[in-house]
Amino acid sequence: MSSLTEAQRTEFARLLKRRYRELWADVQRELGEAQPYAELAGEAHDLEDEGTADVLVDLNLADIHRDIAEMRDVDAALHRILDRSYGLCTDCGGEIPLARLRAYPTAKRCQPCQRRYEQTHLRTSGPTL
Ligand SMILES: [Zn+2]
Repeated sequence: MSSLTEAQRTEFARLLKRRYRELWADVQRELGEAQPYAELAGEAHDLEDEGTADVLVDLNLADIHRDIAEMRDVDAALHRILDRSYGLCTDCGGEIPLARLRAYPTAKRCQPCQRRYEQTHLRTSGPTL
């Protein structure tokens, strides 16, 4: 159980939702520049729709890919806030320091576990999208 207070949980939820909206605005702008895909942006208009990221993930445009990957991280963090696992490391179950959460609100691992994860995963398989 994370030791975050209800106020802190609310604060992070607000921050994450704002980030999600920013990313979505970026994606819509990028889609607007990539004409053939502009229609998809209209179809996936609802911010609260969980399927949004899935609709756009096949577009294969690097910027959009990166934004959507972050949107998924933000979305996952919001779910962790709801199920009260936010602030706990998904690998070791320890508390993620508040300073780290403030710097990386989507952090799902403590720093030692994140380092270990990056050493074992990212170098060989590239970013997971
Ligand atoms: Zn850990």
